[in-house]
Amino acid sequence: MRPHLTKYVPSATAIGRRTFILGGLTVAGAAGLTHASASVSRADPFRLGVASGDPSSSGVVLWTRLAPSPLDDDGHGGMPNANVDVQWQLATDERFANLVAGGTAVARYDAAHSVHVEVGGLAADAEYFYRFRTRRHTSPVGRTRTAPAPGRSGELSMAFTSCAHYEHGYFTVYRRMANDRPDVILHLGDYIYESGAKPGRPRRHTPDHEIATLADYRVRHALHKMDTDLQLAHAVAPWLVVWDDHEVENNYAGLVRERDLPNGGFPARRAAAYQAYYEHMPLRATSRPAQHNMQLYRRVGWGSLATFHLLDTRQYRDDQACGDGWAVCPQASAAERTITGAAQERWLLDGLGQHLGTWDIMAQQVFFARLIKSDGTTGMDGWDGYVASRDRIQRAWVERAVRNPVVLTGDVHAAYANNLLSDYTRQDAAPIGTELVTSSASSGGNGPGAAESFDAEGETVQPEAGSLSNRHIRFHSRLRGYVRTRISPQQMTVDFRAVDRIDERGHRARTLASFAVAEGRPGLQPL
Ligand code: FE
Ligand code: CA
Repeated sequence: MRPHLTKYVPSATAIGRRTFILGGLTVAGAAGLTHASASVSRADPFRLGVASGDPSSSGVVLWTRLAPSPLDDDGHGGMPNANVDVQWQLATDERFANLVAGGTAVARYDAAHSVHVEVGGLAADAEYFYRFRTRRHTSPVGRTRTAPAPGRSGELSMAFTSCAHYEHGYFTVYRRMANDRPDVILHLGDYIYESGAKPGRPRRHTPDHEIATLADYRVRHALHKMDTDLQLAHAVAPWLVVWDDHEVENNYAGLVRERDLPNGGFPARRAAAYQAYYEHMPLRATSRPAQHNMQLYRRVGWGSLATFHLLDTRQYRDDQACGDGWAVCPQASAAERTITGAAQERWLLDGLGQHLGTWDIMAQQVFFARLIKSDGTTGMDGWDGYVASRDRIQRAWVERAVRNPVVLTGDVHAAYANNLLSDYTRQDAAPIGTELVTSSASSGGNGPGAAESFDAEGETVQPEAGSLSNRHIRFHSRLRGYVRTRISPQQMTVDFRAVDRIDERGHRARTLASFAVAEGRPGLQPL
């Protein structure tokens, strides 16, 4: 089957209006067109690359955004005030000799000319290649895949990271993840940071002020998507993304701003941030923002092998207890406190009880296991600030006979491997679950000890792993990096991967430690 790539099909808004065709972009009603905008329209509109995400056993989301001038401060990337048709193709081979699907999508002005194509009707457990076209311009080619059919097992290679502060260094971690060619990549939040530019750093934020408007958030996302290391990682595998706080503002909780900052205008700011996030991520229409909310928690099944429960611990949480930060805080254990909100918790417990796959992988943002500093304080932004939420979920693993719960975590700019315990005061008890915490992709800059380390800037100092009250923490590293896993019906193997320097491009990744988690026996075994 041949998709209609050479034939121009006007978008709905172009019909009945005067239509111009300009260097690959279809412009409806372009009265007052200037020479400058005509030359912009000849520029490559695919400078933000391509991405795919949220695979099912029969389909996947394909993403791109047209932006010939991505950093224009109006947030429209140099595109005209009109909707534009974009053709897409999907094939089983990189040369597109064997096309299996294709069509035309509309890149809408009011969605910053982002394109989300939900392809269906594909074969299960299959690799595909995709690209987009607007007249003369063809996008880079992306590789993606579908999940195995329900009931089918097989193996899965999966990698995840979090926290990519653009100013702190190059995105070598993304490139090294791409080099591994995993089946799926997960991002656990802090894909962007909202802060303004600061001097003396390897790279510089655009806009240079703290972002707050829809245009600001769009430009900041575009800045990231222009990064070639990140583009490579998006083009190599489908991504499953969840946000944390910095996609909006540091440590916000629901509609409560960090610390005691006045809330005025925050719902509108959060809505702008959510809108820009949706526009730049390969998410399904079920995640399209509505008013100032966005449905991000969702399940992605991987045959009978694994179920990804993708959580949102930011949008529905209670405000941090005891003024946030680190504290000795009995209030953090109050029974009514929640980090997920009641509806998401019910949804999660219900999903866990369905035993959909061998491995129940809860991909989320903040530190899940208990972590006590030597002064007795615990972190109020992680699950230690919402102890009852953690207890309810951990109890459900036992009560509902969830054999292989694995929690994936980001946020802390350091790697950890944790055994999860029913009662963290009984350190000798058998683990009931496993937590894998990825370090950051770039936040913090070069590793500890280096002059270029930015870890002191507002990030928590971490206690030693393995100390008496933290013996369930089996591994800890503060180097930048990611976690690589290989998942089979019998075991999950885990490599903690690290890059020593990120103030220069191209450093290698190395494995710091490897563990195995055996099916039916939660907890980490050294490899
Ligand atoms: Fe972060
Ligand atoms: Ca965070």
